Amino acid sequence: MAFSEFRPLDENSLIEYIKATPSLSSKIGHNYDGLKIKEVGDGNLNFVYIIVGPSGSFVIKQALPYMRCIGESWPMTKERAYFEAVALKQHGGLCPEHVPEVYHFDRTMSLIGMRYLEPPHIILRKGLIAGIEYPLLAEHMSEYMAKTIFCTSLLYRSTTEHKRAVVEFCGNVELCRLTEQVVFSDPYKVSEYNHWTSPYLDRDAETIREDYLLKIEVAELKSKFCERAQALIHGYLHTSSVMVTPDSTQVIDPEFAFYGPMGFDIGAFIGNLILAFFAQDGHAGQGNDRKSYKEWILKTIEDT
Ligand code: ADP
Ligand code: MG
Repeated sequence: MAFSEFRPLDENSLIEYIKATPSLSSKIGHNYDGLKIKEVGDGNLNFVYIIVGPSGSFVIKQALPYMRCIGESWPMTKERAYFEAVALKQHGGLCPEHVPEVYHFDRTMSLIGMRYLEPPHIILRKGLIAGIEYPLLAEHMSEYMAKTIFCTSLLYRSTTEHKRAVVEFCGNVELCRLTEQVVFSDPYKVSEYNHWTSPYLDRDAETIREDYLLKIEVAELKSKFCERAQALIHGYLHTSSVMVTPDSTQVIDPEFAFYGPMGFDIGAFIGNLILAFFAQDGHAGQGNDRKSYKEWILKTIEDT
C-alpha cells in the first residue's frame, strides 16, 4: 500500500490515493475522466479538496502537523483529524439532516472523505455579510444543537457510556488548549496573536485589558470550559462552521470537539449572530439600510 505513513497530499498524489481507496473511488463511479480537483481551504487550519466527476463527488480534508494560517512555526497535532472524524460520525448519527456524511477516514494520513456540500451551499458568515435571509436557520441549528448536545449528555446516557466517551475526547487536549488560549486568555492581555484596528480601537482593547471584573467573569467561564464534561460539543460553532442554502443547514469542522459545557456551542452560535447584527451597519449601502435584515437576525437569535 502506497500510503502506509503520513504524507501531505497534493493534487497528483490525491488521485493515486483515491484510486487506492474503494470507499472514495466508488463515490465517483471509478471514473477518472473529466475529474475536477480544487483546493478550497479558506479555513485557518487544514487543507480541503473538492473532487467532482461526471458520476459523483466528495470532499477530502487533510490535517497537517501545523496550523495552515500561521505555518510551521505553530505546530498542531494532526490527530485533530481523528477527533473531527469521530465527532462528525457521532453528531451525524444523531442528526444526519445537518451534518455531512463521512465516507472515509484514514488516521495515519489524518484525512477525512465526506459529502461535498455542493453549491448553492455557502459559508453562513458570507451569507450574513451579503444580507441573505435563511428562514429555516434557527429551526435547523436548534435541532442540531438539541440532538447532539442532549443525546451525548447524562440527560440521555448512562454514566458508564459517558465516562468512556469523556476519556476518549480528553485526547483532544491540544485543540482545547488553543481555545483556552485564544478565547479565554489572549484577548484580555497583551499577546502576540492579538490584533485589532489600530490606532482606532487601541483604547477599547486597553479598556478590556484593564477591566478586572470582566477578567474575573471570563476566568469563571474558562474554568467551566475546562472542567464541565457535560456533552460532546462541537467546540467551534461559529458562522464559518455552518454551510447553508435557503433550505439546507450543514454543520462542518468539529475538530475542536470534546466533552465540555453545553453553553459553549449555544453561546458561540448566538454570539456570532450578535456580532453579525452589529456588523450590519458597516454593510449598509445605498438603497439598503439593512434594517429589516437586522430584525431578521434578532428574530433568528430569539427563535434559536
Ligand atoms: P478548517 O478546519 O481549516 O477551518 P473547514 O472544515 O472550515 O477547514 O473547511 C474550509 C473550507 O472548505 C470551508 O470554509 C468550506 O468553504 C470548504 N468546505 C469544507 N468542508 C466542505 C464540504 N463538506 N463541502 C463543501 N465545502 C467544504
Ligand atoms: Mg473552518
